[in-house]
Amino acid sequence: MKILVINAGSSSLKYQLMDPATNEVFAKGLCERIGIDGHLKHTPNNGKAVFDADVSMPTHAEGIQKVLELLVSADHGVIASTDEIDAVGHRVVHGGEKFAASTRIDADVIKAIEDCIPLAPLHNPANITGIQACQKVMPGVPMVAVFDTAFHMTMPEQAYIYPVPYEYYEKDQVRRYGFHGTSHRYVSAQAIQMLGNPAHSKIITCHLGNGSSLAAVVDGKCADTSMGLGPLAGFAMGTRSGDMDATVLEYLMGRYGYDIKEMLNILNKKSGVLGVSGVSSDFRDLDAAAAQGNHRAQLALDIFQYQVKKFIGSYAAAMGGADAIVFTAGVGENSSAMRARIVEGLEYMGVKIDPEKNKTRGQAIDISAPGATVRTLVIPTNEELMIAMDTANLISGKG
Ligand code: AMP
Repeated sequence: MKILVINAGSSSLKYQLMDPATNEVFAKGLCERIGIDGHLKHTPNNGKAVFDADVSMPTHAEGIQKVLELLVSADHGVIASTDEIDAVGHRVVHGGEKFAASTRIDADVIKAIEDCIPLAPLHNPANITGIQACQKVMPGVPMVAVFDTAFHMTMPEQAYIYPVPYEYYEKDQVRRYGFHGTSHRYVSAQAIQMLGNPAHSKIITCHLGNGSSLAAVVDGKCADTSMGLGPLAGFAMGTRSGDMDATVLEYLMGRYGYDIKEMLNILNKKSGVLGVSGVSSDFRDLDAAAAQGNHRAQLALDIFQYQVKKFIGSYAAAMGGADAIVFTAGVGENSSAMRARIVEGLEYMGVKIDPEKNKTRGQAIDISAPGATVRTLVIPTNEELMIAMDTANLISGKG
């Protein structure tokens, strides 16, 4: 089965054509600057030439149209006809409380995604644009929505209700939703397999990238997660502050006359390890600067590892222990130094890693040392594969 996976942003569209049964990726690419000057990079995986050029795309629909042309073209193509595309799987950021699982897209589903726009004003409109562009260019092809929030819908009330007046939940849907759900779902399912498919499991998944979140996963179901109503919550990230004492906002807004938009822009774009270090949001740059004695770069790394460690401890407490800690995403998969620092000091709870195994990159691996009672796993995430699998299952009636 061939599934086109789409991740649409406001002026961009990432795509991958793949077979979820074999995990074979036929081609992938990115449309950028949609509505501006338009640029498309398309990479076929069959040895044909990469396409990398400016392409006029006033809307997402022209972008998708060009992608379809490239997928069947003589010079850059990977399929003989677009009829070979069985279905399209769309990443959708916010499904509110409505969607606890992926779903086939119809007019009602689009309406429900629209209803969630107030909860994700930047992302959901772009996701809908991507869906409608595909519907226009590929009429009749089944489409599926896969939500970042869906995996977290199993959290118990005590984890998702904020201790503010309850009417804000009842009337305004204010609650913890969580994000990166497709990634947490994928790596926790892989981890359960690596543990030998036990009947019961308690897993802490650490998605550490530019945006980061942790999840506590009991028997394959999310029990808690660090992001909230929005993706600013949790711990320090590349440029986001994580959880913040509201008094800090009031104080800075009073001193500098910021309105709430300016304040949130600082917390979203200028904070986290970038804000502390003043160097970069990229952990490779921070490692390099810290190695040269830059105190604030070192401090940013110290804060990050300390906050992740505290979340791990709190989730172990919440679940009554843990069977495994999983590291994934850019930092989690690639930075052996950060992994080592995060688990350092967790020996009391049975976590111990093998320094040699911890050097491995690019594959799913158990990096635990002999005698560890909590496994430490590194599992490359694959949200596209998860989206393609859900799409294939739903269109073949297995979802
Ligand atoms: P993601 O958002 O999952 O794509 O992760 C992106 C982040 O991964 C980048 O900002 C880098 O900070 C981080 N990253 C990637 N490779 C490495 C590496 N070898 N060491 C440390 N951090 C890395």
